[in-house]
Amino acid sequence: MNPDEWESLCDGCGLCCLEKIETEAGEVFYSDVACKLLDTKTCRCSDYKNRSKRVKDCIPLSVEDTAPFEWLPSTCAYKLIHNGEDLPAWHPLISGDKQTVHTSGISVKNRVISDDPKGEWTILQKMSD
Ligand code: SF4
Ligand code: SF4
Repeated sequence: MNPDEWESLCDGCGLCCLEKIETEAGEVFYSDVACKLLDTKTCRCSDYKNRSKRVKDCIPLSVEDTAPFEWLPSTCAYKLIHNGEDLPAWHPLISGDKQTVHTSGISVKNRVISDDPKGEWTILQKMSD
């Protein structure tokens, strides 16, 4: 898989760019607070090229290190492919339409707020196993 093909697997849901909370029991929850670089209207990183420099917790995904896949949502194409599963019908590579990730309600578009210095988080959803 070349770099362009790898990047095309990302459906643009924005879920991995939300702040996460892990309980002592190891359960992971996604908050409704997005990384400061996430454009919450488009669900795209506003500085993708420099993301690792600007956000120290941003972890670029690669086939060489699949450990971070554990934190990804169950809908994420990287996780699905890693687990040998098919892409869903709403995935842009299947539907041929980049909007289907939004119209199907998968993405965080217009559902989250940007990183808030006051730390006023609420739980958006529990991460699926
Ligand atoms: S969760 Fe996966 S598919 Fe969604 S934005 Fe993150 S890397 Fe892309
Ligand atoms: S820096 Fe960009 S890619 Fe990384 S978590 Fe933030 S919005 Fe997402």
